[in-house]
Amino acid sequence: MVQGTGASPGIALGKVLVIKNEEIAIEKKQIDSIEEEKNRFVEAIEKSKLELIEIRDKAMKEFGKDKSAIFDAHLLVLEDPELMSSTINRIESEKLNVEYAFKQIIDQFVSVFEAMDNEYMKERASDIRDVSDRVLRKLLGIKVVDLSVLDEEVILVSKDLTPSETATMDKEKVLGFLTDIGGRTSHTAIMARSLEIPAVVGIKDMSVSLEDGDFVVFNGETGEVLINPDKEEVNRYKGLKEAYENEKKELEALRGQKSVTKDGREVELAGNIGTPKDVKGLENNDAEGVGLYRTEFIYMDRDSLPTEEEQFMAYKEVLESINPRPAIIRTLDIGGDKELSYLKFDEEMNPFLGYRAIRLCLDRQEIFKTQLRALLRASMYGNLKIMFPMISSLEELLEAKKVLNEVKEDLHREGVDFSPNIEVGMMIEVPSAAIISDILAKHVDFFSIGTNDLIQYTTAVDRMNEKIHHLYNPFNPAVLRLIKMVIDNGHKEGIWVGMCGEMAGDKRMIPILLGLELDEFSMSPISILPARKLIKSLSYEEMKKFANKVMNMDSAEEIEAYIEKTFI
Ligand code: PEP
Ligand code: MG
Repeated sequence: MVQGTGASPGIALGKVLVIKNEEIAIEKKQIDSIEEEKNRFVEAIEKSKLELIEIRDKAMKEFGKDKSAIFDAHLLVLEDPELMSSTINRIESEKLNVEYAFKQIIDQFVSVFEAMDNEYMKERASDIRDVSDRVLRKLLGIKVVDLSVLDEEVILVSKDLTPSETATMDKEKVLGFLTDIGGRTSHTAIMARSLEIPAVVGIKDMSVSLEDGDFVVFNGETGEVLINPDKEEVNRYKGLKEAYENEKKELEALRGQKSVTKDGREVELAGNIGTPKDVKGLENNDAEGVGLYRTEFIYMDRDSLPTEEEQFMAYKEVLESINPRPAIIRTLDIGGDKELSYLKFDEEMNPFLGYRAIRLCLDRQEIFKTQLRALLRASMYGNLKIMFPMISSLEELLEAKKVLNEVKEDLHREGVDFSPNIEVGMMIEVPSAAIISDILAKHVDFFSIGTNDLIQYTTAVDRMNEKIHHLYNPFNPAVLRLIKMVIDNGHKEGIWVGMCGEMAGDKRMIPILLGLELDEFSMSPISILPARKLIKSLSYEEMKKFANKVMNMDSAEEIEAYIEKTFI
């Protein structure tokens, strides 16, 4: 048995498909037949084009023009007459093997684009590299795994999955994910939960030690993975899968019910989403609203900033489909582990402590204002709440609110309507914000605690680094004290306090959070009904006492053991 971190619940059994992203090594060779070499080239180009057309059409059908545009750009590269003729000239004049000739020409093209003084043109360089890699892999016989066109059901194994891989993959055929790196709050894990695909992450050398066709079974809750298990184990996992599915069915009975404790304390259970399409998952799991819409996904996997209109359409879709329930839409939180290929910034020593989220938005106000305009316009279509990420001081919050007011004034002047009742809140995910939450609470309508980052910044433990993952501990009393402080300070100022970090959906933490008087819990949609079941079984008064006891304990170990003993 191999132990990883359970990232998305469910039991998976199946054959493995390993995504290896091998390096492309190219040798220079003298060839005998120029004709043969030219034919290989034409064939590789044609096959690559057909593949790209298939992927583009699939992306178009599933995700719309936004996501498919990048593949059109790739096709254009393959249709470039100069690229073709220069490569063929090289083969003919120097009797070079096609791989080498093509790579030389590509390198020349790329360096021309990279040297240009225009961001857009520089970005074309990465498109050219992407496409040429596809062609080179074809020529060298290296397997190109296109996750969008899978022939059979598989469990994907990889070092990590990129957002574009998760966005284009054929979800019907993917039974689960196993990745070498990442923790419960890495984006692959969050994505797996929103797709409702079982996943285990942080299993060190999984993608190196497994081969295509190996059979694995795993438990996405406990993180246990068995490689090529015997019949008995397979049967045991089949039983677990059945039990898991039956439990899911039982939870259906809780749909439409309130999330209320035995003694009448009602809380709100909302869902976290990354795209408008995820609202369907919220409906399936009976969410009481959107507690966090991570808008950065609109900005990812494309080659330029999304326009105001594109953003407006996305926000409107979310607001309309969840209406009359509220939707908290978070402004752009890029940086850290989420990069944008078309917005290149200087390399940073510590990206998680760097130029990200609200810091970037306040510096590049044109980007921020475009988003705020789109949000305000969309507010006419539902119950919008705007939330700022990564606030670390009062000045930053006031500056963000000032920009929002300027945008409101602009729209007012232009005669564009927006709702007069938009609540404005902020995430508490930086310890400094938690510590001054008494001050900040006077300037917002709500707080939402982002524990994924709050744990990482409070304990100085990188949330992506599995080597120190044991130190990334939600039970750390320092984290719990900050949470209590934020809830109490919020309530003193009469605002509601929610939580949208992964801790909010963790059944081990829900009893304490309830006892600490958290008002709203926002989580991956699949955690909502199990959370409701748990809350309905608890007494608020008892949980207050329980939380009080926990807050007086000295160590994470003691707290965890006490919770496990009491509830699990
Ligand atoms: C958080 O930090 O808890 C959070 C919800 O934001 P993200 O996971 O997107 O950083
Ligand atoms: Mg965060």
